[in-house]
Amino acid sequence: MAEGKNRQRVVAHIDMDCFYCGVEAKLNPELLGKPVVVVQYNSSAKFVKTVSAHENRILTTKPKGVFKHEKIGTFSDGDGYAGSIAVNYEARAAGIKRGMTAYDCRDICEDIICVRVPTKFDKPDLAIYRKYGQEVLAKLKSLMPKETIVERASIDEMYFDLTEGISNILTEELKTTTLEHLAESYINRLSDACCYVAGNTQDIPIEDKIKPFTYNNVALLLGAVLVGEGRNAVINELELSCSGGIGENKLLAKLGSGMNKPKKQTLVLPNYTAAVLAPLPIKKLRSLGGKFGKEVREALDTENIGEIVAMDPATVRAAVGDGADSVLNLCNGICAEPVQPRVAPESIGASRRFHGKNQLRTQPDVKSRLTTLISDIIERCEEDGGRVPTHMVVGVEAEPGGKTSKTGGLPRT
Ligand SMILES: [Mg+2]
Repeated sequence: MAEGKNRQRVVAHIDMDCFYCGVEAKLNPELLGKPVVVVQYNSSAKFVKTVSAHENRILTTKPKGVFKHEKIGTFSDGDGYAGSIAVNYEARAAGIKRGMTAYDCRDICEDIICVRVPTKFDKPDLAIYRKYGQEVLAKLKSLMPKETIVERASIDEMYFDLTEGISNILTEELKTTTLEHLAESYINRLSDACCYVAGNTQDIPIEDKIKPFTYNNVALLLGAVLVGEGRNAVINELELSCSGGIGENKLLAKLGSGMNKPKKQTLVLPNYTAAVLAPLPIKKLRSLGGKFGKEVREALDTENIGEIVAMDPATVRAAVGDGADSVLNLCNGICAEPVQPRVAPESIGASRRFHGKNQLRTQPDVKSRLTTLISDIIERCEEDGGRVPTHMVVGVEAEPGGKTSKTGGLPRT
């Protein structure tokens, strides 16, 4: 788009579908096709029992007729108040939402299967999910051009900058063929990818939406082909479900991956960007979902991207002040943020809160809990290929007095 700038980029975002539930179904295929939630431990417990990923972690119930939840039975291990952190599509269809307790879930859906998240070091142990997240990343990376920049954004989300690789492929191909022929063959290759092209008219065939077959459109189309082939390998070989988005920047790629879930992908082309963004609420945009986004919505008295785009930019600047230009850019689908070459998180942390009667009151108590947290960090550094930390931050929250933290470099050995 913005003429005179660098060439258009091709960026993809992959988001795993109900990732924790997907991993649980992989470990226990009996869960496939059934309503499943993954629940956190009961946070009011003083000590959390260690339950490894390979133990049976399905919460069981006592027979009917026990106090509060007599209609459906009570959970035998006191974990009925554990909150759900992941809900699969079958459970969503039954009306279950994230954050509901196991009891709430059972009240709504008698057949719900509640799987407890693995625990270790007195808190949730996400190692199994990280492991599969890494496998997905490695699989996708192995199928992308070697020039691809890969950013692992979270345990189940990743960005790929395919610009360089695609440019090299197209340069080579265009020595012997035309954009038109390439577009046709890429559209054929796309047939197994469950690919949608974002826009307000779903009934137009993909090839018509991609026309004119400009270099930029064909580059994005090839991005969609590569993402589709990568996703199919993840779905078929790793048996994990994921969705994808392809666009000219991170903002549009991420928007795309959320547009047709699960197990589908969405290509956001420049021609349709304005139409795709206009009806959306502002809070859908990355970085406008929080406090700043709320201020913007109040200052401009609208929830809607299209209305902001239609305003005189001077009005927006006067009302929003600092940051107005970045808001205008985002609302117009412009985002220069690079895909950061990063396959592991920059920092590793472990924390635990001790509420009410569980508060730590003595030095030995603090020491023993700190040791547990540090053991967790050491194990994760090792799991991550033997990373050696260079800095350490220790944060404490006390009552009264609030939070305090100290940062320091660690000696190199
Ligand atoms: Mg996800």
